[in-house]
Amino acid sequence: MSEPLTRSRSHQNLDLMPKEAQTVNVGESDGWLNIGQYSVFAWSVSGVESCIVIKSEDVHIVFDMGVAVPESVRGMNVFITHGHVDHIGAVANHVSKRGLNGMKPARYFVPPHLVDNLKSVTKAHYEMAETVEALENVKVLPFAEGDCVRLNSRFFVKTFPTVHRICSQGYIVYKEEKRLKEEYRGMEGFEVAALHREGREIHEVSITPEIAYTGDTVFDIFLNPPNPDLLKVKLLITEATFLDDEIGKNMVQKARDRGHTHLCEIAQNAELFEDVEHIVLVHFSNKYPPKYISDCIRDKLPLSLRNKVTPGTVAKATKATCQL
Ligand SMILES: [Zn+2]
Ligand SMILES: [Zn+2]
Repeated sequence: MSEPLTRSRSHQNLDLMPKEAQTVNVGESDGWLNIGQYSVFAWSVSGVESCIVIKSEDVHIVFDMGVAVPESVRGMNVFITHGHVDHIGAVANHVSKRGLNGMKPARYFVPPHLVDNLKSVTKAHYEMAETVEALENVKVLPFAEGDCVRLNSRFFVKTFPTVHRICSQGYIVYKEEKRLKEEYRGMEGFEVAALHREGREIHEVSITPEIAYTGDTVFDIFLNPPNPDLLKVKLLITEATFLDDEIGKNMVQKARDRGHTHLCEIAQNAELFEDVEHIVLVHFSNKYPPKYISDCIRDKLPLSLRNKVTPGTVAKATKATCQL
């Protein structure tokens, strides 16, 4: 993402990048957010279901599988943050939808302690359907801190611990680019080629933290980042489960007690996000309608943050809530 992001004056306006750079139409009809070179489909309601899909020309990544939204089906690499059912409950469904579409099985990366349970619950689904052989090439893989998963020659993913009611982890996507070393950039091509023939190392590798997804977490991970790149990414997708102030209740403490983040904590620590180019907030509580979320973001965030925050409310706009 070499071009700076075009800031939207209004958080209602989802069109966040220059027209010429757009690859996916933005609108309430399809629910994709265009952010720099990335298209983001942020389907997420707290306690109900979360599935975040990110695409660009080079990558197609899925974070969490609480529901196998159609937009996730082409995703070959799925990264799961923790074992709550709204984040992991639809793996068998994702496997099945890929199979129906003739796609080869995806890879599901999970915190290591979840591997056995996820394998057995997925197997149970396929045993019930008497098609357990369909799972033969499905890969449920442990992803521990320190591991690195390559998506392709230019992108790789690392994990970092988050703080939730249960063991959980987030992910950072890095872009690796080989470029000419600075000292050779003003030279003619034939001169550089000659140096290369002499055996001179003319390239250097630059690594950029591009995208971070936290999953469910308390705000502390931003105060003491387990990986400093968390606050340097171009696109941060994180949660703001709670937004409101209830008279007589400390809602920030309530959010913390439940292992979540309150929007006020983000607002009060706006300076931490100075280097982050764009933030997509997700996982809002089931009780908030989309307009209330937009209003809170407009009213509670300082201008420096408001201009770079977009709420991921596509699930709410299509009423994927469980209020009866
Ligand atoms: Zn959740
Ligand atoms: Zn959770």
